[in-house]
Amino acid sequence: QQIIITLDGYSSCGKSTLAKRLASYFGYKFIDSGAMYRAITLYFLRNVVDWNNSEEVVEALKNIDIEFQYNPEFKQSEIFLNGENVEYVIRDLVVAEKVSEVAAVKEVREFAVALQQSYGLEKGIVMDGRDIGSTVFPDAEVKFFLEADLAVRVQRRFKELYEKNPHVTLEEVSSNLAHRDYIDSNREISPLRKPEGAIILDNTNYTKDEFFKIAVDKVKE
Ligand code: C5P
Repeated sequence: QQIIITLDGYSSCGKSTLAKRLASYFGYKFIDSGAMYRAITLYFLRNVVDWNNSEEVVEALKNIDIEFQYNPEFKQSEIFLNGENVEYVIRDLVVAEKVSEVAAVKEVREFAVALQQSYGLEKGIVMDGRDIGSTVFPDAEVKFFLEADLAVRVQRRFKELYEKNPHVTLEEVSSNLAHRDYIDSNREISPLRKPEGAIILDNTNYTKDEFFKIAVDKVKE
């Protein structure tokens, strides 16, 4: 029987890495909900949409089409914004600096949550984000809440970003993570919280393999 597995937590706790591995292990679909908010932010930045103006937001959302497609070459699902593969550009700090503001907008959340829930109709999915176990799929069979020390999360994200852009600094990454966590935890609509019934996993001291094994064992329980 196929189930829904959710992973929530602060930025850069290793949610996507774990979610991808769980999805491939169980033969499930992986959906990165943060990528949706990032793609919407990219669209707003490119088209100079004022996200504090709800009329502009509603109009803009009508022109946004988001899809995930599996890329067999890299064995991963990638996000497409109006037919363009934006899997990599949405990781840029320019997008990361604004995404939490955009994700706090009511119309944006309604749009993204509806799309996320449509993916859940089939079951057999692993979805990571901030409010997946609490708001998107409150009845999910397995819910995880990931944690890790800020210093470890900063190092991890810095390494990823530095490989693509050697101008990025540790301070920038650190302040971006703290800024996003703050907005995500304090916004009005579905703020980042540990979902009821979630299994807490602390990823500060594990290797990726150890952490994966712990999570698989929990799912099998
Ligand atoms: O997971 P990721 O870091 O890519 O998410 C980017 C941002 O998208 C988060 O900082 C948060 O503001 C927003 N987000 C959200 N709800 C989710 C997933 C992401 O608000 N379920």
